[in-house]
Amino acid sequence: MTTLPSSRRHFLLSSAGLTCLADLHRSFAAPVRTEPETATSSAALPALAPPDKQPQNLQIPQKPTKQLGWAIVGLGELALGEVLPAFGECELSKPVALVSGHPDKARRVADFYGIERNAIYNYDNYDRLADDPRVDVIYIILPNSMHAEYTIRGLKAGKHVLCEKPMATSPDEARQMIAASKEAQRHLMIAYRLHYEPFNQRAMEICKSGALGKIRTFASTNGQNVKAPNIRLSARLGGGPLGDVGVYSINAARYTLGEEPVEVFAVAQQPKDDPRFREVPESVAFTLRYPSGALAHCDCGFGMTESRFYEVHGTEGTLRMQPAFSYRGLRLHVRDSEAKGGTDESRELLLEPKNHFSQEMDHFSQVVMNNETCRTPGEMGLADMVIIEALERSLKTNAPVRLDG
Ligand code: NDP
Repeated sequence: MTTLPSSRRHFLLSSAGLTCLADLHRSFAAPVRTEPETATSSAALPALAPPDKQPQNLQIPQKPTKQLGWAIVGLGELALGEVLPAFGECELSKPVALVSGHPDKARRVADFYGIERNAIYNYDNYDRLADDPRVDVIYIILPNSMHAEYTIRGLKAGKHVLCEKPMATSPDEARQMIAASKEAQRHLMIAYRLHYEPFNQRAMEICKSGALGKIRTFASTNGQNVKAPNIRLSARLGGGPLGDVGVYSINAARYTLGEEPVEVFAVAQQPKDDPRFREVPESVAFTLRYPSGALAHCDCGFGMTESRFYEVHGTEGTLRMQPAFSYRGLRLHVRDSEAKGGTDESRELLLEPKNHFSQEMDHFSQVVMNNETCRTPGEMGLADMVIIEALERSLKTNAPVRLDG
């Protein structure tokens, strides 16, 4: 597999890089001619940049006619590090309210993003969002054990809800969330951001197109080193590697294979000598079997250096995404089979990256504005919760669990 060093790759990708290359090429291709100096006065020459006119192709930013107001619930790492900054790249969505247990932090965040101070709520007066006409959508970015309660309360308040992954801590909770959305006639979407960014979208298209032939196996790792204290290490808050990071592999297996597993098996490691893993496993390895005969083997963990990839192996080709689940810097390689006239070398598909969160939020705003169907509905979150629960049962029984019975 040949890859370009990232600095060179970015140089080649950028338009500035292309311009430089073109200039360089011209400077070698054209012989240098020295014009004799003329006596023309500079007054007779046309102005090079007329100050009284706008450049012809000047792009003046236009405010969209309508933007939906979003309330951000839980001002933790994801909300502050990724979600709130991503509104800067949104066209249809703007932050208008905050919900937090820490009023000082919330005031500072509100002032920074131009959110009115009277649009700061806490977990007790959260239901008053019902009376706030500035808010159309609520984005739940709380510990997993709080997703169901705050989603259901948000829907009952008459708002549309985007809920972070994993959707909940059990299939039952997920079903209650879907029922609440139907009853309130409000949209519910799960924040599977990879469905809204170009690299994973292209991987989905390639697998669906049949270009890899019949898919036989899917392999994936998603892991990181988690330092205490962290919600991910708390059983009470719905932590653990399966729901936090394993869910990406489970979801990616679905969007590349295009089917649901019929049987699952999992093994876990929970070291007794590492206090971080008193309540949740350090790592989990699991296998999923699909009706077509395809197999997925995945692992996830909280004790490893960051590693996030998947590979799809078909009868006619192979696809590799590494990193696959990170916020930035995704890389996609495809290898066609020699039998189909391809080579044994993989080629890298160079796509223009987009901010996952702004794409996702604007998709949901559009769904709400036009009353459309979203790409990652509650039902998708429920399907993942069913698989996670079966994997947890497999861990307890040390046996495979069937999902088709
Ligand atoms: P953090 O622990 O950094 O933030 C969680 C926030 O929830 C806290 O800052 C706090 O906000 C609020 N909160 C309310 N009650 C509690 C409680 N009892 N204990 C701890 N926090 C509480 O977590 P993250 O931001 O990393 O993750 C939040 C959610 O986002 C999780 O569901 C996670 O799975 C998901 N996530 C998704 C990612 C993605 O790429 N889609 C990436 C990272 C996380 P306050 O102080 O304002 O009340």
